[in-house]
Amino acid sequence: MSYKDTINLPDTDFSMRAGLSELEPRMQQKWDEMDLYQKIRDAREGRAKYILHDGPPYPTGDLHIGTGLNKILKDFLVRFATMRGYDAPYVPGWDCHGLPIELQILQELGDEREDTARREIRRMCREHALNFVGIQKEQFRSLGVMGDWDNPYLTLNEQYEAGILEVFEKMVERGYVYRDLKPIHWCYHCRTALAEAELEYSDIVGPSIFVNFPMESDVSDLFDVNADDDVNVLIWTTTPWTLPANLAVAVHPKPSYTAVRYEHPNTGQSTVSIMADVAVDPVLRNAGVEDYERLGKVKGTELEGLTYRHPFIDRSCPVLLAHYVTLSEGTGCVHTAPGHGAEDYQTGLENELEILSPVGERGYFSDRAGMFAGQHIEEADDNIINHLVEEGYMLDHSKETHSYPHCWRCHSPVIFRATDQWFVRMEHNELRKTALEAIKDVDWVPNWGEQRISNMVEERPDWCISRQRSWGLPIPAFYCEDCGNVLLTAETVASVREVFAEEGSDSWFEDNDASKFLPEGTTCEECGGTSWEKETDIFDVWFESGSSHNSVCRKHPDLDFPADMYLEGTDQYRGWFQLSLLPSVAAWDSAPFKTVLTHGFVVDEEGKKMSKSLGNFIGVEDGVDEFTAEILRLWTSSVDFRDQISVSTDYIQKNMSDAYRRVRNTFRFMLGNLSDYDPAKHAVDYSDMTDFDRWALDETARLVDQVTKAFEDYQLHRVYTLIHNFCAVQMSSIYLDALKDRLYCSGPDWTERRSAQTVLHRILLTLVRLIAPILVHTAEEVWSHIEHKDEDVESIHLAHWPEPGDEWLNDELHERWEKIIGVREDVMRAIESLRDRKVVSKSMEAVVSLWAEDESLQKLLRDDKDTLTELLMVSELTIPDERPSEEDFEETYSGETHPSLVVAASPSDHEKCARCWNLLPTVGQNADHDDLCERCVTAVEEQQ
Ligand SMILES: [Zn+2]
Ligand SMILES: [Zn+2]
Ligand SMILES: [Zn+2]
Repeated sequence: MSYKDTINLPDTDFSMRAGLSELEPRMQQKWDEMDLYQKIRDAREGRAKYILHDGPPYPTGDLHIGTGLNKILKDFLVRFATMRGYDAPYVPGWDCHGLPIELQILQELGDEREDTARREIRRMCREHALNFVGIQKEQFRSLGVMGDWDNPYLTLNEQYEAGILEVFEKMVERGYVYRDLKPIHWCYHCRTALAEAELEYSDIVGPSIFVNFPMESDVSDLFDVNADDDVNVLIWTTTPWTLPANLAVAVHPKPSYTAVRYEHPNTGQSTVSIMADVAVDPVLRNAGVEDYERLGKVKGTELEGLTYRHPFIDRSCPVLLAHYVTLSEGTGCVHTAPGHGAEDYQTGLENELEILSPVGERGYFSDRAGMFAGQHIEEADDNIINHLVEEGYMLDHSKETHSYPHCWRCHSPVIFRATDQWFVRMEHNELRKTALEAIKDVDWVPNWGEQRISNMVEERPDWCISRQRSWGLPIPAFYCEDCGNVLLTAETVASVREVFAEEGSDSWFEDNDASKFLPEGTTCEECGGTSWEKETDIFDVWFESGSSHNSVCRKHPDLDFPADMYLEGTDQYRGWFQLSLLPSVAAWDSAPFKTVLTHGFVVDEEGKKMSKSLGNFIGVEDGVDEFTAEILRLWTSSVDFRDQISVSTDYIQKNMSDAYRRVRNTFRFMLGNLSDYDPAKHAVDYSDMTDFDRWALDETARLVDQVTKAFEDYQLHRVYTLIHNFCAVQMSSIYLDALKDRLYCSGPDWTERRSAQTVLHRILLTLVRLIAPILVHTAEEVWSHIEHKDEDVESIHLAHWPEPGDEWLNDELHERWEKIIGVREDVMRAIESLRDRKVVSKSMEAVVSLWAEDESLQKLLRDDKDTLTELLMVSELTIPDERPSEEDFEETYSGETHPSLVVAASPSDHEKCARCWNLLPTVGQNADHDDLCERCVTAVEEQQ
């Protein structure tokens, strides 16, 4: 019999090479076939619920790796909750309506778009949405994300739509909804209103003009002017196209205004302009006016009520007071167009001006724009400037750069335009205040989120919920065909809701009579009429996704309201978080979530946003192909997702693959060394274990505590670091490395070997659970290779979170071992220096003497000599009572970790055991086996 046959070599089918690209789809298919999601539901039935409510992506285009990261983070939390024993259903969803899809379809239709009925456009949009739901679903599943993929929520489903209308009904009943003419952000390319969340700001170079509006009122009692003076009020604007809508000039009541007489730089005429006193010098100097004469000063209040003539439209307009007028730029006399600006609109309301907006939905001027009627506003800017110059009204014009809102879809500059829209009133019934209070009861992670969303709710205007598009849920209002009276009541909404619940919102776009949607005999309150026209506006798509708390959380039999967790990117404070909060508070007096967790954006290595045009876009599909799901999941767990997340393919490829291998090899070692272990027969009691083994259990218990805490605190990158370090340090380089000798070379049934196996078995069952939410495929693979499990479940994902044994956590041992690990560090440094000098090639070739001046450390060395011998893996360890003499050793080294420690080391002259390859003093002492050490003699004789 050769000695090799007496060695307990590891034995496992768990391969070193993962083969993840084949393993992952195979395992996912297995989970589908066994209907694992449903099995988990059944197993956790009746347990406390944990509801992570999915924020729905748009089903259009390829999934960005950032969207993948979002879904993986959700999966981590859902799986953690499930393992902790919660019933944690996860129902993924898609936000199916909306502009991105409609624009895509209109682009495909090209010239035919004008001749295509809304019904047909909607049919094509639906097809597009459902197609991409299918594609994206496969991509999410390929990441190993577990959920009710067969029954996701789609905002285009009848029941979902009915749920939106239920929220709306409640809001109408409570009086939050109104219709009004109001300036809103408008994209004339996309021909739709845009919400604040749909704007992006970037710089544009545009005109900056100073225009004299001729005064109509006599100002000779305010300023020192003559009867023949050409007196004007000087305004400044960067949007000449809004001048046709000018209805007033606003001045601030407090500061001084002055009139100045000067020679107009272009016309050469003597001109008088009224403007804020502080504006005179900078404005005139820039306009090239050298000499001028101040004609007296008055407060802004004294200008109130004066009138001027519009420079090219036949009307007389007033000078008004407004507190928002600033003197930091312009002239202190503000051009006011109530149909084209938010502040202008307020001033208009306060002074009963018309909310005039002579711009149509495509950006063309209406007849109300006078001589510019019919022109597009893009060309009108130059025409208006030229006209003002020709007529002598223009004092100065130039170009300047300023930040300007753009449409998020087509990236064109947007305009403010007054149109009839539906709004949710923020001040009604204290909606703003109630929402702000609800925010305080929510747990915002990170906590600056609370301030961010509070500011947004505090400052936001009324919510414009209508859009002039086709692909969405119609606003269920009616107009009297006889008198135009608007009909929208809780009863009429409920009536429409019932039809939609059966037939879907497509029924609204059929050529049918409005009466189908109304309670029988509905008559107009104004004129008694009975014929109604259906509203053509649809809901802002955010109102749809913002109603998911009702359509999904409150309606789905598995779910609950409010949800425990909303988890999205930081852009959703402005979007989904805020626009879910408002309807939920308005309809049900409650926030829809208990905790809101956000993650940063995924950017490339240089911190740039990923886009297909920049060529740095990484999609989910490519990501899985290139790295595999398991590596992407490991990477997701490794990043501090609260900040901006930069993704580098090299980093993932190299570091994550290395980290994965380290974890995998740890499992492989444990599985291999448990092939002949049956806990029922071989388990060793804690009290009979070696100290080293107890240390490993203590470390494991601490790991469980720390990982649990990191999950609970959403510090997921700590989970990664903790587990990775445990595998790399405590396991690979300390415990498992030292354990090999005991496992391989002891007699198979010796207590010290069974003790090690007992510990490995416990650690394996613990570690596979800790890693299960992250490495879902690998954990399952490991689980299937564990012969003796402690929980009778067919998948690791049905198992519970690990609970360390009561005696594992041992503070006395832990403190002592901190010192022992320190001794190890010092010994390794000493041996390292011998290796550098090529005196030995590994620790086994060295004999080591340890002595400590510190008495308690010296006592510990003596007491734990056997443990240290195993831990240090040296040929021979001695603990002398005196400081080792430097002459007796090749290397004498003073400790760094323990400064009172002296490590003396020399090459060993012991013989090498032919079986265990250790250089030991006992080799050659046995006559029958003179090539073996004492331990190996016993082991071999036992097996003969
Ligand atoms: Zn647009
Ligand atoms: Zn009527
Ligand atoms: Zn041996």
